[in-house]
Amino acid sequence: MHQTVSDQEIEEKLSSVKKKIAIMSGKGGVGKSTVTALLAIHLAKKGNRVAILDTDFLGPSIPKLFGLDSANVGFTDKGIEPPVTKKYGIKVLSIQFLLPDSSTPVIWRGPMITGVMKDLLGKTDWGELDYLLFDLPPGTGDAPLTLMQTVKLDGVVMVASPTELTSLIVEKALNMARMMNTEVSGIVENMSYFRCPHCGEISYIFGRDKAKRLAEKYGLKVIAEIPVDPELAELSDVGEIESYERDYFEDVSL
Ligand code: ADP
Repeated sequence: MHQTVSDQEIEEKLSSVKKKIAIMSGKGGVGKSTVTALLAIHLAKKGNRVAILDTDFLGPSIPKLFGLDSANVGFTDKGIEPPVTKKYGIKVLSIQFLLPDSSTPVIWRGPMITGVMKDLLGKTDWGELDYLLFDLPPGTGDAPLTLMQTVKLDGVVMVASPTELTSLIVEKALNMARMMNTEVSGIVENMSYFRCPHCGEISYIFGRDKAKRLAEKYGLKVIAEIPVDPELAELSDVGEIESYERDYFEDVSL
């Protein structure tokens, strides 16, 4: 895994991918991986060929959402062959598939993260894809920097919860994308509200329109507002996020 991969090899491997979109958040636990999975499902349901590269090496959570914890990758002469999700055939690659077991911690410093990111980019055989989504670790560290420096992204989707939307942490992530000349596709507000399962009344538990205000400040769109939904959390916990039927991305064009 630790041979140096050239930028040309990376470009070749990604040449069969039409759109490359990164999913970012200011901090952890706001639902970035959940949103990445829901966005992939939305795009796949529309007939697109979709893949996710889980670049949250220190806390990979994409495999678990799709019930792929113990999936194995294939190795062919074209490179690493990612496993595919059960229902929508989304290709998924995570460092978790390459570790001895899922409880092995990844203890890496910056240069290792950069090296492994480039390895995965230069050695994965994605085949023809309409969308490759990159689930980034939270914040503005080594992984987002390496990705934005190495790959010409078509967009960045910023995920934030209402409580975090008023802090500077989201703005820092937005400004990082701008400084790297990467277009921000829009903001997803996760855990935006709660709909009472009995009467249907909507409560904006953490305050209303925070994403809209931030989006206005930066001239961006709000792509989706996703409620706190216990069913979503339950299905995610058992690796069945593909059985979650609600789609919050109806009008999104990426
Ligand atoms: P991150 O990738 O930002 O660290 P995750 O996507 O792993 O966050 O989500 C953190 C936790 O919150 C998970 O247990 C997930 O199931 C739960 N969660 C995320 N979004 C929602 C939501 N809209 N409704 C209910 N639970 C959610």
